[in-house]
Formats: sequence, structure tokens, C-alpha cells
Amino acid sequence: MAEPDEVNGRQRELFIRKSTRVAASYLKRAKALSEMPDAAKPFFDVLENVYIRLTDVQKPEDMKSIGTLCVMVPAELVYAAGAMPVRLCSGSYTAYSVGDDYIPRDACPLVKAVMGFGKMKVLPAFDNCTLLVAPVTCDCKKKLAGVVDSVKNTVPLQVPPLKREDADTEVFLKELYRLIPILEKETGRQVTAKSLAEGINMVGNAQYEMSEFLKYRRHVPALMSGTQILSVMNAYSYMPVKMWAKQMHRLNEEMKLRLVQENFVSRKNQPRILVTGSPIAFPNIKIPLLIEEMGGVFAADETCMGERGLYDPVSVIDPSFDGMMRALASRYTKPCTCPVFVDNSQRIYRIKQMIRENNIQGVIYHVLRGCLVYDYEYQLMEEAMGKMDIPIIRVESDYNEEDVEQLRIRIEAFIELIKLKEYAAVHERQ
Ligand code: SF4
Ligand code: SF4
Repeated sequence: MAEPDEVNGRQRELFIRKSTRVAASYLKRAKALSEMPDAAKPFFDVLENVYIRLTDVQKPEDMKSIGTLCVMVPAELVYAAGAMPVRLCSGSYTAYSVGDDYIPRDACPLVKAVMGFGKMKVLPAFDNCTLLVAPVTCDCKKKLAGVVDSVKNTVPLQVPPLKREDADTEVFLKELYRLIPILEKETGRQVTAKSLAEGINMVGNAQYEMSEFLKYRRHVPALMSGTQILSVMNAYSYMPVKMWAKQMHRLNEEMKLRLVQENFVSRKNQPRILVTGSPIAFPNIKIPLLIEEMGGVFAADETCMGERGLYDPVSVIDPSFDGMMRALASRYTKPCTCPVFVDNSQRIYRIKQMIRENNIQGVIYHVLRGCLVYDYEYQLMEEAMGKMDIPIIRVESDYNEEDVEQLRIRIEAFIELIKLKEYAAVHERQ
């Protein structure tokens, strides 16, 4: 593969044609699942603009974009510095195949896709980020932070491997303090107590709208397709938080109306499935699509491109600058259920809670090829689900369409298994 400046027009054209075709076909399938709420359309427009029309994210002209590579980068801090955070974890199969030439074979496809976009320079949402903040979490992200620096100025952000003790949070707090002057230099704006409070407030509003939305998501029968919901949540990566929260408010109003009018998109007895595991980043939404195309309801997700990204607000007890910084450091480590932490029993607790709250009947455990941190926790999850009598399957996938048929067969069989189990349970009760 030629270096970026040597990438010729023909290669670029082929790349664009292929990547936009995949994104367009997945968006079309997601839209076709069921009647989409009108208020969800602007979120789909955002994904379309970024991945198909190849335009930059929508934001004030004088506002800089700062790329982030994980939910552990506090968006509040980036907004406090006057910039917009753009999450660059991508699910592009075409970018992955380019990144494959620069990243070792056994690394996960997500980091290869990031590297691929870095090399190709065709995605304005990526290219216009003047800085990349890359948390050092798993080995793939750690080494990516080193290599992606060759295409984009990158700041690695140390994440402690433990999160229980205050001393662990202190490590992250120091890192956040180290990040402040770097952001300030980038934007020319100072992070003050006022701007930090505003940042916390803006993200807090989005978290509030999300928590309201999740109440509607729990409804049986479903009020909106889960794949469409995940797309709405993915759009958060590319929208200014105020705009996302405002649109989310409209979506909540429409969900309220759908509830009153009993305008459902599923039947009461369709199997309700929770997806957990490696990130599901647009356009790689093949697993949610397969679940819903095969007759399941994608009823909840415990993933960092979905519900996990916005579920816990920052809780500020001490409103001083240091107090807010401490609240941020604590919010971004202690409740985080990402398996990059050594002890992650909270994740099992959280998933059990979600199963009860969302009337879940089966769990699909998604592992991206090469994603060891999630794979490590599968056994624990299987044991926990066994005790709850909840069926679970592990599905491994890559960034291509070659595994789709095999995934389809396994997901279809899993849905049938849940149906049989429910049928037997109903007959037993009679
Ligand atoms: S899986 Fe964990 S480390 Fe990877 S992006 Fe999500 S939160 Fe960050
Ligand atoms: S947590 Fe998994 S998917 Fe995310 S960067 Fe690490 S290996 Fe890749």
C-alpha cells in the first residue's frame, strides 16, 4: 500500500466507492426494519453525511474538532476547552482493509479501521480533527496510540488498570490535569471553572435525555427498532452534544406519543435480546441487523458505542475546579464496565440488572476478532447467565461481509432456541 501522499486518485476513488456503498446499504437495511420515528431521521442524516456524503461534522466554524478513541475521554473537558469531541472508533470495512497493511494481523479490526482512515485521508470528520486523544486501555489501543501518531498528532491518556481505590482515580485525575494545557494550546481557550461547569451541564443534559429514552426502550412490545436505536447512539460521536440532546428530546416526545397510540414495532412475544461485548461502531451494525431481520428484538445493549456511553452522569459534590475534576476522574473510571480493568465484577452486576429491567430472554456476546479483553470475560458471563437460566451465545465477527451467513445461521438458531424455551415455560405453567 502506498503512503498517503502517494495514494493516487484511482485508489481513493475505489476506496470511496466501496466504503460509501457498504455504509449506504447498512443504513438502508436499518431504516427498512420498521417505521422509523420522524425525530430519528436527523441522526441518520448525520451518519449519512459523515460516511456517505463525506462531509465534516456539523459544528460552529470556529470550533475545533478533537478526535477521541474511547468513551473514557471526558467529553466535558473537551467542551470546556471550546472544542468538539469526535469519537473516531470506526466500523468501516474498507478502512479496516487499508489499516490491515499497517497493523499486525491479530490486532482487532476497530484499530485497523482507525489507522485506515488515518492513511487514506478521505473522511473529513477524521481529517479535520487537529488532535487525537487516545486512552491507553487494551494492548490494541495502546499500540495504536503509538502508530496513529504518524498520521495525526496524538496524545496518549493513561488509564489505570484498577479502579477500586481512590489512589487509582488519582492516577487518572493527574492525566486529566495533564490534558488541560494540551487542549488549551490546541484551541487557544482556557479551561475555567465556568467552562468546565458548562461542559458538565451540557453532557448531563444529554445523559438525562438518554435515561428518559431508555425508559421507552424497555417497553414491551418495542416502540422502536434496536438497530435504529444503536444508530442514534452512534450518531452521538459526530454531533455537538447540545444538538444531540435537543434532537433526543424530540425523539422522546415522539416515543411518548407512540406509547399512547400503541404504535409498536414488535409483537409482545418476540424474543428480547441483549447484546454485550466489543464496540459496535457504524457501519458495522451487521449483528443488530441480523437479530432483527431474524425476528428478534434487539432490546438492550451493554456496549460503549451504545447505552454505556451515556448512562452515568458526573456527580459533582464539591463545585470548585478541583472538585469538578475529581468528579470527572471518578465518573470515567469507577462505574465504567469496560473489561480493560483488572477487576470488572461490576459488569456482570450491571448486565444482570439490565436483564431484569429490560425483560431480556437471551444474551448475544459479541467479540471482535482479536479483542481479548472481552473474550476473557465470556466464561464469567456464561456462568452468571447459567445461574439466571438465560441462554447466551458468543459470536465472533470481523470487519467484512464474509462471516454474515455463518452469523445469520447461529443467530437464527439462537432465536429459535429462546422461542422453544418460552413455549415450554408457558405450557409448564398451564
Ligand atoms: S471497549 Fe473499552 S477501551 Fe475500547 S473503546 Fe470501549 S470503553 Fe474504550
Ligand atoms: S477493547 Fe477490543 S475492540 Fe476495543 S480496541 Fe481493544 S481489542 Fe479493539
